[in-house]
Amino acid sequence: MIKINENYLKLEASYLFADIAKRVAAFQRAHPGRQVIKLGIGDVTRPLPAACIQAFHTAIDEMARAETFRGYGPEQGYEFLREKIAQHDFQARGANIAADEIFVSDGAKCDNGNIQEVFATDITVAIPDPVYPVYLDTNVMAGRTGAFVDGRYQGVVYMDGTRKNGFVPALPEAEVGLIYLCFPNNPTGATIGKAQLKQWVDFARARKAIILYDAAYEIFIRDPDLPHSIYEIEGAAEVAVEFRSFSKMAGFTGTRCAYSVVPKACTAYTAAGEPQPVHALWHRRHTTKFNGVSYPVQRAAAAVYSSEGLAQCRELSDYYLRNAKLIRNELSDLGYACIGGDNSPYIWVDCRMDSWKFFDLLLEKANVVCTPGVGFGRCGAGYVRISAFNDHEKVQLAMERIRNVLRAA
Ligand code: PLP
Repeated sequence: MIKINENYLKLEASYLFADIAKRVAAFQRAHPGRQVIKLGIGDVTRPLPAACIQAFHTAIDEMARAETFRGYGPEQGYEFLREKIAQHDFQARGANIAADEIFVSDGAKCDNGNIQEVFATDITVAIPDPVYPVYLDTNVMAGRTGAFVDGRYQGVVYMDGTRKNGFVPALPEAEVGLIYLCFPNNPTGATIGKAQLKQWVDFARARKAIILYDAAYEIFIRDPDLPHSIYEIEGAAEVAVEFRSFSKMAGFTGTRCAYSVVPKACTAYTAAGEPQPVHALWHRRHTTKFNGVSYPVQRAAAAVYSSEGLAQCRELSDYYLRNAKLIRNELSDLGYACIGGDNSPYIWVDCRMDSWKFFDLLLEKANVVCTPGVGFGRCGAGYVRISAFNDHEKVQLAMERIRNVLRAA
């Protein structure tokens, strides 16, 4: 008799975005004439930068000719891309990361989900609340948690984000092995300064823990004092793995390209306390289970680092930040406390009522979709996330409608 991985049965039955889609579909069936504006999920709407498209076309043409055709590439990614990433995203910021510490992949979601398998199953994970659900669910699947009781998995150290701490959680008191951090944050839009991030790095070094640092939204950082990478902090290479993605950087959500950084100095331990480089484990995992991102996609990603590509990506992120500013200003003017939206495409709004009630209010009265904060964890109760990923005209219209509804409410 074939048996299942029963950890999957512990997972919560419904997924947040499926619930939202169901409610939106029911609303649209009931009101077919209404135009619903979606400021819910974090998908981009603008086309790829011209530099990426150009590189994509050229690479496709190379694939069409016998003399330039490419089959399997290196699993970790082509040197031409890894070199550019290391130089531009890290060395230029004083972070000593080499090209062979970069692993190119087809998504930060996969990397964030897969990395946990190189660590023991009996470690304790520290996970923020509210959270991007991938960190939590992949640890449930791996058997690192107990049952889901009263809205939380047993055995997980939840790090509460609250209005009081600005949604930057405090260091955990419990003994933890893996620590998940995400800045600029999804869903809250919160950011972390260098001094605060240093506390995390120092903590991980003292406890021999590892930080998994998700910087998928790095492109939106505008404040010159904020760190773009955890490796800007001294000693971080020993205790941190970082994840980046071209999804939000260059509109690659449907194109798929991302990377993880595993410095050679990053160390975990055997049960007997023997140090082991995480790089070797991740290299083994990546080359065994992954066969590389397609050549044209890597060429398109490399074009991000050309002078035109950099300018176009900046323009793209400026576009969404303009939306974010509008959303934040409007909701603040209406008297709602907001965080995010300045170095992030997400605005986290204290909606002063149940998250789903506010969601329904906006859907039914303003025909605008947001994301109920409680779907990201218990600490998200009473909040909603509004995303700036949409066309500016639609965001303007959505804000007009929201203003009318909330003024009257
Ligand atoms: N990390 C965070 C925090 C995200 O919000 C997302 C997507 O929304 C991802 C990773 C996924 O990125 P990718 O498209 O590269 O899989």
